[in-house]
Amino acid sequence: MKTYWFAFNEKSEIVVEKKAEDEYRIPFAETVPFAIKSEIITLPDLNGSPAKAVTIDGELPSTCSFSGLRDSYSILPFEEYYAAGKASELINFHTNIRFCAHCGKEMVRKTDISRICTGCGKEIWAPVQPAIIVLVSKGEDEVLLAKSKNFKRPYYGLVAGFVETGESIEETVRREVMEETGLKIKNIRYYKSQPWPYPNNLMLGFFAEYESGDIKVQEEELVDCRWFNRHAMPEIPRKLSMARMLLDEWLGVKE
Ligand SMILES: [Zn+2]
Repeated sequence: MKTYWFAFNEKSEIVVEKKAEDEYRIPFAETVPFAIKSEIITLPDLNGSPAKAVTIDGELPSTCSFSGLRDSYSILPFEEYYAAGKASELINFHTNIRFCAHCGKEMVRKTDISRICTGCGKEIWAPVQPAIIVLVSKGEDEVLLAKSKNFKRPYYGLVAGFVETGESIEETVRREVMEETGLKIKNIRYYKSQPWPYPNNLMLGFFAEYESGDIKVQEEELVDCRWFNRHAMPEIPRKLSMARMLLDEWLGVKE
């Protein structure tokens, strides 16, 4: 039966197969069309066909090449890019978790999403780290945008950060905005979530409104942070990111 083969190298780049000029697909074949070294991990069916995740060993056929996972968004059909995220998270999990954190003995695969210790029997599941991202608005027309030190491109994005232990997600939203910008916010509203496999996050998007305070930029994380008017927006993140979905929703941009 023809199967989707989500294959990765040691740099977590994914194998894509060229179909035509600027047209790429995940390799789809009865048997895996290159040498592999890991166990085969079964993924949920894709478009009614089986899907597997593997790591490659050796050369690729001339029709295939590697792509960064994030870059694959712009060359693959969306459902293949989306499934590749889960494949990448599971491959990283099974490749990187080798020894038990409790007793130090070897861990082996138990199921496609879990590993078990050969010493103490402790079982662990592929982890997901939740993170929040929030669009803070002031009145009808102003939005709070931040330029992160981590951005490779010169765009402005939204305040974001990881959920900490013992904290509700609403508390994370308030804390991150306060830490990064010094502002108090109100009326926090959940928007939607998105798996963000870089490497294993779940991004939770929120809207909130400005309540009080003056901007004090957290200099360890941000280069700049300020209010922008919706009619004079700077360069913003590309499609695909939750930041862009929140901004498009707020700006009233249709798909
Ligand atoms: Zn153990």
